[in-house]
Amino acid sequence: MPDQRHSPDVLPAAELLALDRQHVWHPYGPMPGRQDPLVVASASGVRLRLAEPSEGQDELVDGMSSWWSAIHGYNHPALNEAVTGQLGRMAHVMFGGLTHEPAVRLAAKLVEITPAGLEHVFLADSGSVSVEVAVKMCLQYWRSVGRPAKTRLLTWRGGYHGDTWQPMAVCDPEGGMHELWSGVLPRQLFADAPPSGFGAPVDPAYVAHLRSLVEAHADELAAVIVEPVVQGAGGMRFHNPGYLRVLRELCDEFGVLLILDEIATGFGRTGALFAADHAGITPDVMCLGKSLTGGYLTLSATLCTARVADGISRGEVPVLAHGPTFMGNPLATAVALASIDLLLGQDWQREVKRIEAGLLEGLTPAASLPGVKDVRVLGAIGVIQLDHQVDMSSATRAAVREGVWLRPFRDLIYTMPPFVTGDGDLARICRGVVAAAKEA
Ligand SMILES: *Cc1c(COP(=O)(O)O)cnc(C)c1O
Repeated sequence: MPDQRHSPDVLPAAELLALDRQHVWHPYGPMPGRQDPLVVASASGVRLRLAEPSEGQDELVDGMSSWWSAIHGYNHPALNEAVTGQLGRMAHVMFGGLTHEPAVRLAAKLVEITPAGLEHVFLADSGSVSVEVAVKMCLQYWRSVGRPAKTRLLTWRGGYHGDTWQPMAVCDPEGGMHELWSGVLPRQLFADAPPSGFGAPVDPAYVAHLRSLVEAHADELAAVIVEPVVQGAGGMRFHNPGYLRVLRELCDEFGVLLILDEIATGFGRTGALFAADHAGITPDVMCLGKSLTGGYLTLSATLCTARVADGISRGEVPVLAHGPTFMGNPLATAVALASIDLLLGQDWQREVKRIEAGLLEGLTPAASLPGVKDVRVLGAIGVIQLDHQVDMSSATRAAVREGVWLRPFRDLIYTMPPFVTGDGDLARICRGVVAAAKEA
């Protein structure tokens, strides 16, 4: 037999899976994993092509946008072109002492399209790192302006901000992925979760609760950090944007910075370009990631106002001591620019509205199914919440039988399809979500 060690593309799926089981750690899993993952051979448009059929399907319509990121689908000619064009110039150069066009243009573009007042951009390599940078900016700001005791963070329950240490400390402290570390993590302050419902009226009692916490802890609070409008991986809950205006006012009144984590919500997902736009507010610091590159490469951005940057830069140590090796990576920044151009070059609001209507039509009937607690839709996000934990393996299999890729968690079966999902594929995704809810 010829030596095929240097042709990984000829490895049969069974062999790949054996190696995967032996060596490869997957997200939030034990080693080895409890179930074999599906092997994806290629992807284009909204379809994932499997190396070998599963439940009789060799192609799956992607209901997950690869965790909120692939808004334009896979193998998109314009995004491919952005990467290969940049590849011919340079894949990477260090960012210390050097700069380059894609990173500069991306920073300028982000300043242009995000809420007015965000002026400066720190590029890093993942969402979690952008949250680390945001927290570091806020703590350092207060230290620089002579308020070094302001080191704590306030958030509301039900949030998710990533898996590195500072983000973990502001994830929901109960029932989440990081509960194990509650005694070890820095102890931050938690308000109750915001009342559910994008359209539910602002609850004065909840506003008073937020106010009392910010007021009581103003001397030690560096920042309030929340996901605006949609709490994603913490429970797929929506809230009235009015609470963001309340937080903005409280932060201004009591001298606390406001960080909005738009890593999941940014770039149109909720129906506004940024979820902060629903509230018409500007945070002091904003985190972007996930769909920033259209799902092509890992990249995040932390934006801040001139006040935050000036404060840091006038301090005793007038530098932000952070500098990831792959900061401003040319391939990632080039494809991010192309993805933003692609998004803004079309009537993306109409596409997101169309998907919202399709999800409402396809998912609402499931509200009467036994075991279903709630069905909710906002922008291009559809959620079925059960009254019990999902049996992930059987729910996933039920969706795959319908030709749909989903990744349920906890009591949630949810979808955030690529914006390019056509009406037929969208109806199929809804059938997959409903089938998974019935099976789970
Ligand atoms: C995914 C996510 C993160 C973490 O981003 P990574 O790129 O996975 O590190 C942080 N905040 C929110 C709101 C997210 O959805």
